[in-house]
Amino acid sequence: MLCYEPDETVPNRFPDRAKECDFAMKVIRANEMGMCFGVKDALTLAHDLEDPTETAIHGELVHNEEVLKDLERRGFQMAPESRRTDLPASPKMLVTAHGISDKERSRLKEAGKQLIDTTCPLVRRVHLAARNLQNKGFFVVVIGKPNHVEVQGIIEDLHNYTVVQNIDDVASYDAPQIGVICQSTTAPSDAARIRSAIEAKNPDKEIRFIDTICEPTRIRQEANRELLEKVEALVVVGGKNSNNTKQLVILAEKRGIPAIHVQTAADLEPAWFTPYSVVGLTAGTSTLDGTIEEVYRALLDLDPTATPSS
Ligand code: SF4
Repeated sequence: MLCYEPDETVPNRFPDRAKECDFAMKVIRANEMGMCFGVKDALTLAHDLEDPTETAIHGELVHNEEVLKDLERRGFQMAPESRRTDLPASPKMLVTAHGISDKERSRLKEAGKQLIDTTCPLVRRVHLAARNLQNKGFFVVVIGKPNHVEVQGIIEDLHNYTVVQNIDDVASYDAPQIGVICQSTTAPSDAARIRSAIEAKNPDKEIRFIDTICEPTRIRQEANRELLEKVEALVVVGGKNSNNTKQLVILAEKRGIPAIHVQTAADLEPAWFTPYSVVGLTAGTSTLDGTIEEVYRALLDLDPTATPSS
């Protein structure tokens, strides 16, 4: 059985173990992690719907397989994000927290769909910033992942824009005014690097940067940064398609801290932990509190010396 040292940041569930064993592994939780208010509000709204069978979810309500399976069990019609152009038969459509473009909103309404809108207000802020820049004559640079649904929703309403994911994508733009915004879940350090690259490649131009990274993402990234100072390895809990979860993994790897991305406690491989005595735990903004607790308990209970089953 795994032993661990009590730590002021970790409730000691098995106080006798530390006395019994020489080997010890600490599990330190990030000060801030897990589901953000935008995702929580969207889920609450979905749960409050009286008849889920008459509603189709327009893409993935959250990038979390567990939650998606639960919504499907409850009767919601589901379609993968790659098929958001399809029109389901259901009379109602639930717009996810990632938001959609005005163009798409009009398409759905013209098709007679009643929209249940759970767009996060912080995503709306990004749309607004992009449109304002464009209306003022700026060429809009969106820092984000080109295929992410949030970015798709933003750029569908623009006509003078580009999307950059990293500094290699940055170019000299043929425009006197450049407006820069960020996908809400961009890592602040990435945004800062890309902003510098835009400024370097576009000297003598007016560049307006609007920081549209959402506060929950920023706070979780900062908490992750603090956590990485204290641990030898990191466990990140979250959906495989969750951008902000991946950002937490990438931040660890950039700092030379091995990170493992799990969706549930069942994904934990005991042998992976063998070299480490201090392990951190964090989670993306679409991760349920219950899942985080399960992973935490499993970390306390797993035996890193166990032989993986063949
Ligand atoms: S990650 Fe940020 S923008 Fe996205 S739903 Fe959560 S709070 Fe809103």
